[in-house]
Formats: sequence, structure tokens, C-alpha cells
Amino acid sequence: MTEAPRPLRVAVIGSGPAGIYAADLLTKSEEVRTGAVPVAIDIFDRYPAPFGLIRYGVAPDHPRIKGIITALHKVLDRGDIRFFGNVEYGKDLSLADLREHYDAVIFATGAIEDAKLPIPGIDLDGSYGASDFVSWYDGHPDYPRTWPLKAEQIAVLGNGNVALDVARVLSKHAEDLLVTEIPENVYEGLKVSPVTDVHVFGRRGPAQMKFTPLELRELAHSRDVDIVLYEEDFVFDAASEEAMANDNQVKVMMKTLNKWLEEQKERTEHASRRLHLHFMQSPVEILGEDGAVTGLRVERNELDGKGGIKGTGEYIDYPMQAIYRAIGYFGSELPEIGFDPKKGVITNVEGRVVDEDGNAVPGLYATGWIKRGPVGLIGSTKSDALETITHLLSDRENLYTAPEPDAQSFSAYLDSKGIRYTTWEGWHRLDEHEKSLGAAALDAAGEPRARVKVVDRDEMVRISCGE
Ligand code: NAP
Repeated sequence: MTEAPRPLRVAVIGSGPAGIYAADLLTKSEEVRTGAVPVAIDIFDRYPAPFGLIRYGVAPDHPRIKGIITALHKVLDRGDIRFFGNVEYGKDLSLADLREHYDAVIFATGAIEDAKLPIPGIDLDGSYGASDFVSWYDGHPDYPRTWPLKAEQIAVLGNGNVALDVARVLSKHAEDLLVTEIPENVYEGLKVSPVTDVHVFGRRGPAQMKFTPLELRELAHSRDVDIVLYEEDFVFDAASEEAMANDNQVKVMMKTLNKWLEEQKERTEHASRRLHLHFMQSPVEILGEDGAVTGLRVERNELDGKGGIKGTGEYIDYPMQAIYRAIGYFGSELPEIGFDPKKGVITNVEGRVVDEDGNAVPGLYATGWIKRGPVGLIGSTKSDALETITHLLSDRENLYTAPEPDAQSFSAYLDSKGIRYTTWEGWHRLDEHEKSLGAAALDAAGEPRARVKVVDRDEMVRISCGE
């Protein structure tokens, strides 16, 4: 009789959608389902709570996207994948620790740094990266509890969905966010914001927006916020005409913008706040006085016929007291793992981590934004994960290297190092606690809130550990 193969032990670093999808797809692969390749999967996260980008990157007023948590929750509720929270690769765990206990490691650490914008004035007080602001309003445990919201006029640079998130949250009235799970400190911070105008700047034209139709349309749903467009920005080149004729998303979004242009002409009542959309203007300098932002200088662009732009040499100065750059995210380098500093990704070929000579490093894989860069909606992470785990499974003959196949060994190891980790049961405790905080608080309509997030890391760990 042949002996049943021992489980292939896999560690996934990061419990955002990328990590959980990879773990889930691995368990659902034919090899694993049929029992030919039994697996034992542990997911690690440096935060005490799971769900990565969904908990700490998706805007609080996007319950539909936050709802992806329900699907991820179901995966971990099955009980065949373990969760270790509050355990950080590079700090609590080294590659050698992982190699000792696992046959394969999948890195799914995402991309949460802001891409750099090297223009004069970028380091002035009042110039922020979108990712930092998102982390603040999403109650990230490692960010300060207060955010300086003193500006009346704010610029948001970039024409992607992150720019829309940031502009929407900055321009909304704080009480309208009480229906969401925003933490108390975020509500208190937004409540005193004196903002009147938020200006979003795209360097290309309306037909080159990176927004998606639903997210663009949603801007019109903010109470007491007028959308302001500028007719002079609506010029199109051959590439724009082609995009408007053939690209469905562009078609739909242009329809939305044109409708808003018409409505704007007939507007008789005016809101107390405005959200402006500017196009074909590149940020060239952040203006300041006494170390603080006082304005934004942009160069007006013209389209080059191919969807690109060229500067016209005409500069415009806008008075602004705060600037948020939302020009893309960037991945962070992980200790002992090859990194491409240009793309901000782990060096990999289709999810197999490679060394500087391009050779696959046995047993190491990457998936999600740290594999392919910070582009694409959450759903595209699934096909990405499939590619990575398909390679992992085809490499499996050479992967059984971990000397210690005992499933309990890793928790014992963490205990022996004194690392206070959280578990899936712990997440259930924190989840219930946050829901009970919500039930005890009221939104602007006097209804109980669905959830209020706990922000403090120690408190999260204490509640998760049932202390
Ligand atoms: P993005 O979609 O790549 O948009 C980045 C924007 O920054 C582009 O408009 C880009 O312009 C602009 N940009 C880049 N460098 C610039 C510069 N030097 N000066 C001026 N503008 C510059 O990135 P993102 O907004 O960070 O979003 C990342 C991904 O997450 C996207 O796939 C997005 O759809 C997704 N996401 C989705 C949601 C949602 O609610 N569904 C929310 C947030 C994020 P060019 O196009 O000219 O390069």
C-alpha cells in the first residue's frame, strides 16, 4: 500500500483579497480536491485583523466593495485555512523561519505606498499622499489618530479611482459618513473641516480618465456638493474620438460628464461645497509660504493625437491650502526577496519569484499587486492568483522541503518567541465587538450604525485574544 502523501505546507503572507483568493483557489484546485495533493495553508498578516486592502484601502462609503469581505469571510470560516494576525514578515518572521516550517511561501503583501511625484514643494506642510489619508480614514492601526483638515481649497492630483475616493471623502459632510464604519476619530476630524472646494486634476483629457463609470457617477450622490466642470477642458483629439466611439467605459463616462455640463448651466441653487474636475493640467510645482502649501501651479497640456499629452508652456496658479497626490500606489520591498524598484513589485515571472539572474527561487511565489503592480479592480486579483497557484502546483514535486510537517508546530514556534498573534476565532471576537459598538451608536438619521471600527493595535489584539 502506498503511503498517503504528507500535506504540502504553504504560508501565505498577507490576508487581503490577493492572499485569501490564492489560498482559496489552491484548496479548490483539482489536485487538492481529489486528495492527490493534500495541503495545509496558514495565512499571515501584520495587522491584528484580516482583509488587508478591503479593511484598510476601500473607502468607507463603498459598502458594495467592502461586501467582498463576506466572501473572504466564508473562505476562512471553513476552517481548513489558519489565520495568524499581528505577525509581520521581516520583523517577527524571517525567510529562514518560513523555510523551516513551510514548503512554499506566497507573498501577497499588496502595494500601499504612494508613488512619488518629484516636483518642487512636494514636501511642504499640507502636501499629502493619498495612501496615508486613506489609511487614516480607514482606521489603520499604525497611523496617527488625527489628520490636519484645515484647508478650504484642496487639490487632488490624479484621475484614477483613488483620486475619486479621496475627493469624495474630503468633500462630503461628515455626518453623511456616519452610515459607514468610519471610526469615531475620523468622524470628529472630518466634522471640523472648513473645506469648500475640492479640485481634482487630470493631466490628460476626459476621454483618458482612469475612473470607472460607477465611481464617477457616484460623485453626484454627495449631499450639498455641486460638481463643477470647465468647458475649455473638453477638447478631443483623434485618439479621444476613437475611445469615445469604441470604448464602452469611456462612452458611458462621457455621457455622465456631458449630462453634468448641461445641469451645471441650468443650476439655480448652489451647494455649500463644490467638487471640481479639471482636465489636461499637469502639476508642476506646489507653491508655499513659511513651509506650508499656499497653491498649486499647473501647466496646461494639449493632446498629442495618440492619447498622450504635451505641455503648452501656459501655467496656471490655483490657491490651495492642501494637496493630495493620488497618482498611483507602489509596492514595498520585502527583506530577502528580489524587488524591482522601477515597478515596485517582487521580481517574478508569472508569480514565480526570480533572482537577479532571472532564475526561479524554489518555493517562493507572489500574487496580487506586489506581483503585477497596483492596477486593476479587486476581481482581477483572482485570475492573477490562479496563475500563481497553477505554477506552484506544477512545481510541487520539488517543493516538499520543510523538515517539520506538524501542523501545530508554527503556533508553538510563535508562542516560543513570545509573539502575540491573533487567530480567526479572535477575528470573530473583534468583529462582534465592532458590531456592538455600532449598535450602540447612531447615524445622522438616528439609526444604529452597522459597525464602528477599533483602531488601536493593542486594543484590537486584546479584544481578539478575549482579554
Ligand atoms: P490609477 O487608476 O492608475 O490612476 C492613477 C492616475 O494618476 C492616472 O490618472 C494617471 O494619469 C495619474 N498620474 C500618474 N502620474 C502622474 C503625474 N506625474 N502627474 C499627474 N497625474 C499622474 O491608480 P489609482 O487611482 O491609484 O487606482 C489603483 C487601482 O485601484 C485602479 O485599478 C483603480 O480602479 C482601483 N481602485 C478602485 C476603486 C473603486 O472604487 N472601484 C477605488 C480605488 C482604487 P495617466 O492616466 O495620464 O497616467
